[in-house]
Amino acid sequence: MFGYEDLLKEVDMFCRHGVETGVVGESELKQRIPYVFVGNKNGNYMIVQGAMHAREHLTALVVVCLAKHLVKNADLPIDGGIYFVPMTNPDGVRLCQEGVGFVADKERKSNLLRINGGSDFTLWKANADGVDLNVNFDAHWGEGAQNGYYRSSCNYVGKEPFSAAETRALRDFTERIKPVVTLSYHLKGEEIYWEFGQTSHRRFRDKRYAEAISKYTGYPLVTLNGSVGGYKDWCIEKLKIPAFTIEVGNDKFDHPFPYGELSHIVQQNLDLPRRLLNTVVRDRQRLQGTGLDALYK
Ligand SMILES: [Zn+2]
Repeated sequence: MFGYEDLLKEVDMFCRHGVETGVVGESELKQRIPYVFVGNKNGNYMIVQGAMHAREHLTALVVVCLAKHLVKNADLPIDGGIYFVPMTNPDGVRLCQEGVGFVADKERKSNLLRINGGSDFTLWKANADGVDLNVNFDAHWGEGAQNGYYRSSCNYVGKEPFSAAETRALRDFTERIKPVVTLSYHLKGEEIYWEFGQTSHRRFRDKRYAEAISKYTGYPLVTLNGSVGGYKDWCIEKLKIPAFTIEVGNDKFDHPFPYGELSHIVQQNLDLPRRLLNTVVRDRQRLQGTGLDALYK
């Protein structure tokens, strides 16, 4: 399994190889959420994030592998820079892998055990407050078909949008970086989500990118009805940029998902971030000054 300590070691290794690393923000339990930056600092940025859902910790390792691929292949042309955020939910991942032992606060610990209904947290998805981070963003918040209104291992939307430290951290980081596109890795199903009510030109644009992602990965595009409050949803609705959720990993496997599938998943996605960023940046450059660029803002 790939845990939070392993991530910190990997980030340290990137840093020692001269790769820029930094911190997105802090989790509810004050753990750092690190990033690794690869590419050029020319203002055209992409954010690739994983492990927003605790039990999907394999996606953190997938994101690390994608970043490593770019570092090793520095000769590949890249028209901007990519912020890789492998583990958006470090508290949840630790809960999932280690149980409540690392939680210092006694009240929080007993609450977590009660909410979870026992000490086995392997299927936990939420953060250390029982908030599901991918329904805590301000995009039709609380209106989802599966939304829950009590602390839980999954689906609890929180008291209000951005009530969780992790979603606030990712929101603030995203607003500061101003990415032109974002990619979120989840597990499982081998599917791509790209819609959140876009219309006209933006819908046409985002569908075209989604089809290109589908062609590269081999995963089909899927329309999800009644799913709201996610990071991708917020990027599409509030930032008006193309944003995608990719569910990696074949559905025939159950959670906890087998790590033996890692190399297969990495192969399917290996050069996707760079290719997608280049496509988006080149489109924007082509439209600049034509008057059409305003349509995409
Ligand atoms: Zn997920």
